[in-house]
Amino acid sequence: MMSFSSEVKNEIAHGMPEKECCRIAEAAGFVRTAGALKPAGRGEVGLSAVSGNPAVARHVKSLLAELSVEPGISVSVANTGGRISSKRYIIEMPAAETTFRLLSALGIIERKDGLLSITVGIPQSAAYGKCCRKSYLRGMFLGSGSVADPERSYHFEILAGGAALAADTRRLMNSFSGIHAGVSQRRDKSVVYLKSAEQIKDMLGILGAHAHLLAFEDVRMIHEMKGAANRISNCDNANVDRSIRASNTQMKMIARIERSAGGLAALPQKLREAACLRRDNPEASLTELGALMNPPVGKAAAAARFARLEKAGKL
Ligand SMILES: [Zn+2]
Repeated sequence: MMSFSSEVKNEIAHGMPEKECCRIAEAAGFVRTAGALKPAGRGEVGLSAVSGNPAVARHVKSLLAELSVEPGISVSVANTGGRISSKRYIIEMPAAETTFRLLSALGIIERKDGLLSITVGIPQSAAYGKCCRKSYLRGMFLGSGSVADPERSYHFEILAGGAALAADTRRLMNSFSGIHAGVSQRRDKSVVYLKSAEQIKDMLGILGAHAHLLAFEDVRMIHEMKGAANRISNCDNANVDRSIRASNTQMKMIARIERSAGGLAALPQKLREAACLRRDNPEASLTELGALMNPPVGKAAAAARFARLEKAGKL
């Protein structure tokens, strides 16, 4: 089964940033955390980057191809064991002028007094616009991030390597309101992490993983409701309120679609099914709605459908 982390990465890797500034920032974040330079003499360097996730490797390849005219960008598979999970996907750019130009544009290398050096931390340029700060974090998360399945624990992290990069990463994450990342040491590597469910949920939104944000929220709500079960008699149950609020929002959206031209019939079949099930079961959780679908789907897939439905409802 695919891990929650891989699912989130798949969702993120599905989209290409619209603006070039953001494409540069996302590529820079990925190369910074997952890339390695291959010196080739004559002052030239090639680039090699690794991902365990095929969708991420494909995405990074198209990202680099968008940003460079270099025709020799490739992805190859290295099987480090017998299992699927031990496959590594290697994205490579040859040692060429085009690669050098891209690495300079990404702020990874610079030439000072004729000498080539690798820059340290996150270049200032990545911190300009809010769009690019999100994109840079998205690239870093695809390169070295992970997020635990909320069924098990609340943990989000980006492996940052050196202390300077960790400090910059923390600053970048904390530039978004409500995010307070910590830094810890794992052997010789710095880890920038979040432990609060609320902040991890917000971070999934910042990274653009909206379907998984909903799935995460749904699981968290179930956990909190279990924890609050013996407090219902005290009327102290904000979680139920929140669950009902989420459902209310969906009901309003569905009503809006019903009033629009074509109504629910204009929706793709899967979205129509999701809308009808929600309309008929206002109090059901995403898990329960998923189980009612034909064929039944899991919580994440159900959340993804409602995220698409929400998009459709805003048209
Ligand atoms: Zn941007």
